[in-house]
Formats: sequence, C-alpha cells, structure tokens
Amino acid sequence: MSTSTKAFGIDIGGTAMKAAVVDVASGELLSERFRFDTPQPATPQAMASVVAKLVTVANWSGPVGCTFPGIVRRGMIGSAVNLDPSWNDVDADALFSRACGNEVTMLNDADAAGLAEVRFGSQRARRGVVLLLTFGTGIGSALFLDGRLLPNTELGHIEMDGSDAEPSTSAAAKVRDGLDWEQWAARVDRYLLALERLLAPDLIVVGGGVSEEAEKWVGLLHTRAPIERALLGNNAGIVGAALAGAEGRAPA
Ligand code: BGC
Repeated sequence: MSTSTKAFGIDIGGTAMKAAVVDVASGELLSERFRFDTPQPATPQAMASVVAKLVTVANWSGPVGCTFPGIVRRGMIGSAVNLDPSWNDVDADALFSRACGNEVTMLNDADAAGLAEVRFGSQRARRGVVLLLTFGTGIGSALFLDGRLLPNTELGHIEMDGSDAEPSTSAAAKVRDGLDWEQWAARVDRYLLALERLLAPDLIVVGGGVSEEAEKWVGLLHTRAPIERALLGNNAGIVGAALAGAEGRAPA
C-alpha cells in the first residue's frame, strides 16, 4: 500500500469539527484551518454532513483521516461517552467515506494526538513507555512503547473511589465545579497516582487546552514519571488524523 504525502485531517470535538490539509512528512498544515460547530445532537448523519462540508470548503480530493472521541476499531465505533449514543456500532469509515466521496480512516482522538506528538513533538516521547493524556471535555489516553501505539486504551475511565475518573478530573470538571488550579491539580494528582499504580510510564505527556497553561498546574503534581506539555497544541488531532488518513488505516 502506498502512503500519500498529503492528507486531509479532521478533528472532531464536542463543540467544533476542525480540519486542514497536512504535509504528513513534516506535520505542517498546508491550508488554513476550517471549522464548523459540532451539530447538536451529534448524530452520525448530522456529523457526516459536516465532514462533507469540510471536504467541500477545502476543495479536497484524496485521503482523509478523522478523529473520534471514543473507541474506534477498524472504523467501527465502540463507544461515544460524550457524543450521541446512536454512534455505537456505526461503521464510521464507511459512513464518512460515502458522505464526502473520499476514503476516510477514523481513529480515536487521543491516539491521533499521541501519534502526532510522538512523530513531530518531543524527542523524548519516541523511546520507552510513554503515556499521553488529553484533558478536555473528557480525558483521552494514548499509550506508546518505543513510538508504537497500543490503540484505544481509554484510561480516562479507570475507577477512582468507586466511580469513573473522567467526570471529576477532566478539564470540564474544573469549570463545572469552579475549581482553581490548585484544587483541580489535586484531583489530577490522585488520578495520575492511580494510573501509576497500574502502569510504569517513563514519560507522561499532557495535552488538551489546559496544557497551554501547564505552568499553573504541572508543578503541583507528584508523579514518579516526568511530565511534559504536548508541543503540537491545538493541531495535534488534525495532524494525527492526517497521518492515519495518509496510511489508509488506523494504527493497530
Ligand atoms: C472517551 C475517549 C476520548 C476522550 C477524549 C473519553 O470520554 O471515552 O475515547 O479519547 O474522551 O475525547
């Protein structure tokens, strides 16, 4: 299978769907970032129309990669905690490919961000056991060994105090509960220590919008592993999606 040098990357979030043409050798964006609101309710059909609109406004023809905030196995959606429940068991590769007339490859959003960071971000992330966590509406995770991804890890949903860690520890929880950085960091700290009882990462990379203010909270954490801020910021999802799109398959 030949790998394209350019691909269209789409990043699906709870509030926006963003996309750009990406040079997959350098990770650079070759177009402006196109953006539409995520439809509400975020049903498969409604989101397929937005994917088609993004491809049309970008005037793109070629491979497309697309992130999804849930489990994606060979194009099939396995979970969609923060989207519409009608996503379960949808063949999203087929649905979006039909909608936009190009071959679409879907993958989990945190996996996409992690792939982009490992390829184009921190040098340190390429060796050993590396855990990337994205803090946003949910908590996404991507786990790597020597740069190779173990997909769909879903570590945002580990059990803490008898319930799912995500609702109390995501960046959305900070806003919802009116927490200052110190209060929120205390929750993140407990979560990371719980993770470090299960895994022994050499490095933890933190992403998501809150990573832009990493200096306000990362210093308050007590993990054994060093913590780095993700370097690709806002574009990590788009770039990681394009990497999968160019290869024509999600990492497995
Ligand atoms: C989902 C993950 C996703 C994360 C970030 C979680 O609720 O289960 O698949 O990566 O949110 O969007």
